[in-house]
Amino acid sequence: MREFDYVIIGGGCAGLSLAYELDIHQKLNNKTLAIIEPREEYKRDKTWSFWKVAPHNFEDCVKKNWKEFSIKTSSGSKIIKCDSFPYQSIDSGLFYNKVKHRLGKNKNIKFFKNINELNTNNSFIFNSVPSLDGFGSNLWQHFQGIEIETTEKFFDDKIVNLMDFDCDQRNNVHFFYILPFSKNIAMIETTWLSKEDKSLKDYDSQTKSYINRLGIKDYKINFKEEGAIPLFHPKYKKEKNKINIGTAGGMTRLSTGYTFLNIQEHSRFIRINLENIGNTKKYDIGKKYQFLDQIFLKVLKKHPEKMPGIFFKMFGASYDATIKFLSNKSNFFEDLSIISKMPKWLFIKSIF
Ligand SMILES: Cc1cc2nc3c(=O)[nH]c(=O)nc-3n(C[C@H](O)[C@H](O)[C@H](O)COP(=O)(O)OP(=O)(O)OC[C@H]3O[C@@H](n4cnc5c(N)ncnc54)[C@H](O)[C@@H]3O)c2cc1C
Repeated sequence: MREFDYVIIGGGCAGLSLAYELDIHQKLNNKTLAIIEPREEYKRDKTWSFWKVAPHNFEDCVKKNWKEFSIKTSSGSKIIKCDSFPYQSIDSGLFYNKVKHRLGKNKNIKFFKNINELNTNNSFIFNSVPSLDGFGSNLWQHFQGIEIETTEKFFDDKIVNLMDFDCDQRNNVHFFYILPFSKNIAMIETTWLSKEDKSLKDYDSQTKSYINRLGIKDYKINFKEEGAIPLFHPKYKKEKNKINIGTAGGMTRLSTGYTFLNIQEHSRFIRINLENIGNTKKYDIGKKYQFLDQIFLKVLKKHPEKMPGIFFKMFGASYDATIKFLSNKSNFFEDLSIISKMPKWLFIKSIF
């Protein structure tokens, strides 16, 4: 059986981001890497969006940058400028092509379908496959997005519609999200924050009636993506010679589901500490955010009806501060400015 210095389980966003980061920094010139990935072919399956609060390796996979976004509830709407931290969308198809092309040139990197093909006794393992069974009672961000192409120019392609809460909430938290790639092409996503609940997954009809309500008559669907992001971090036993990355490694910001940029920062951390990674302190996205997000999610579970207003008020603080807070880059004073916008009693009660 073949042996490798490093093994990455799961060649998705985190696995490939890490392999790419190691390769471009010459960490795999004298070391071998196996990537275990069962999928038969790589094709566009996700659109990763985020505020660009830190540099990353995939600028050339960005489909579009926006400098404004909006938030809408049934009682008001706000347009928010984000010149300092543009909102970016990465096309996973471009990302997979770029990484596969680069990794294909390094003879020390090999792909396998199954870990049983290897002897991993002496390898260091980076695992990106989360064990999520039995977590149905936890909160998930689940969604379906369709990229539509309209016959007429319909969208304002300068503004992302980040959250439109003016829709059926069904005692949960529900919003629509629009990424206008051009005046006649946009991704429209129906998004729920809820426990596992099949009755909320009539996504096709939700989106169809929303598109209808927007007044779009003629359109075709170019692409569809569906997924669920766990809004909890599964606990793992600490194992020598193994660390978790990606969703499995706690890189999701629990109040928002944003994960992509955290994955990139974790990859950089691993690359810098690679030689001693087994003994390096575990990387996390910040204890204060984990604490604040737990409270936020408690409020969300108990008072879903208040969440549209809470998200709306959050952007009542300085826009940059809010973006930095939601992207885990805020300082103490910025945190305070966000916290001061929250309904204090509700949050204090949730702590206890
Ligand atoms: C549809 C969708 C849209 C998202 N959009 C955003 C966004 O806009 N912004 C953002 O920040 N985050 C977003 N996320 C969250 C997060 O960024 C993604 O889930 C991201 O892909 C997580 O990377 P990962 O490597 O942890 O998981 P994945 O990318 O899912 O990679 C895991 C890999 O493991 C493979 N695998 C599965 N089972 C095994 C096994 N037994 N052995 C070996 N390999 C296995 C899978 O085939 C997959 O390739 C989105 C998530 C989804 C599902």
